[in-house]
Amino acid sequence: MDSEGIVNGTAETNELPWQQEGLLYNTFGRALRRRFGGRVQRVSVDAGFTCPNVDGALTRGGCNFCDNRSFSPSRRVRLKRVSEQLASGIQSVRRRYRTVSGFIAYFQPATNTYAPVDQLEEIYQLAFNQDPAIVGLAIGTRPDCMPESVIELAAKLAQQHYVSVEFGMQTMHQPGLDWMNRAHSHDDLINSIDRSRDRGFETCVHIILGIPGETHQHMMQTALEVAKLGPDAIKLHNLYAVQDTPLGQEVLDGTVHMMERQDYINTVVDFLERIAPETIVERISGDAPPQYLIEPKWCLEKSALKLQIEAEFRRRGTRQGSLYQPPDVLPSDRPRPVDKTPEAVKAQIDVRGRLPVLKMER
Ligand code: SF4
Repeated sequence: MDSEGIVNGTAETNELPWQQEGLLYNTFGRALRRRFGGRVQRVSVDAGFTCPNVDGALTRGGCNFCDNRSFSPSRRVRLKRVSEQLASGIQSVRRRYRTVSGFIAYFQPATNTYAPVDQLEEIYQLAFNQDPAIVGLAIGTRPDCMPESVIELAAKLAQQHYVSVEFGMQTMHQPGLDWMNRAHSHDDLINSIDRSRDRGFETCVHIILGIPGETHQHMMQTALEVAKLGPDAIKLHNLYAVQDTPLGQEVLDGTVHMMERQDYINTVVDFLERIAPETIVERISGDAPPQYLIEPKWCLEKSALKLQIEAEFRRRGTRQGSLYQPPDVLPSDRPRPVDKTPEAVKAQIDVRGRLPVLKMER
């Protein structure tokens, strides 16, 4: 077995490339290698976006796990220019890996579609103009912040580049969304995914396992919902708590408990068995810098966790998609709905979401 979890499989006809390669799930690293012919690394960029769940457009508290003090106006002005962040990110990746074929500019913190669309185009395009080695964009956002104008922009950029839009789905269950103070519904996610499908860019959904109050059955219902909606990719995260967040305080008080390691490993495998084999798996766990992380500490051991997840697949003799049942209506046949971006978000995108001018300088 190699670092991507290859087993001694032989190629069979009708198998997907990752299956032919003997992988246990459709790993992101390999998917990028197949697409770009070599190693592609993400470089994280903070472009100074805020979030409608923080700035008052929807609410002010933000999600209970999110250290959203960092989206304050002062930080938005102090930010290092996007071009400088990209240059230093690329430099440090090049120092770490001898051969890198390309980079994906990853617009990561806050809600990276929450700005006037002309500013979005300028800031996304800036990444491509910066360095020819930047082959794509990954854009993290909320499910209720993908108006039609942004879908059209992502579709336009995707005509020439790799573009992935990452939606924070977290769970399909409203009590869990409410517990996190997400201030959106699962219907918002369905609406954005169904409008984004087949527009030339990839869709990715971010899932959190171990939300208090959610049973194993709840999490498997979310897995089946992912199978039904058919995003191009998923990211699986364990719930984790960092300092100076409402969740962190509850964990310190002992009122909220994180998932146990073995439970998480089993649940990840259960989840991946139920989703489509075509879905790319971008992450199988989440963590935070050790100095900020409160619990669970086991998520810092990413390599060991990955090996244990692969070992669990091997013990069961299964792989991603082993229990996948195609839904009655295939994702490709789902109708494209009308844009239901909430008025409260639309009304504030050009006002509160406007990016500070300083960061737009090159
Ligand atoms: S939606 Fe995202 S950026 Fe906004 S508060 Fe929640 S986690 Fe933070």
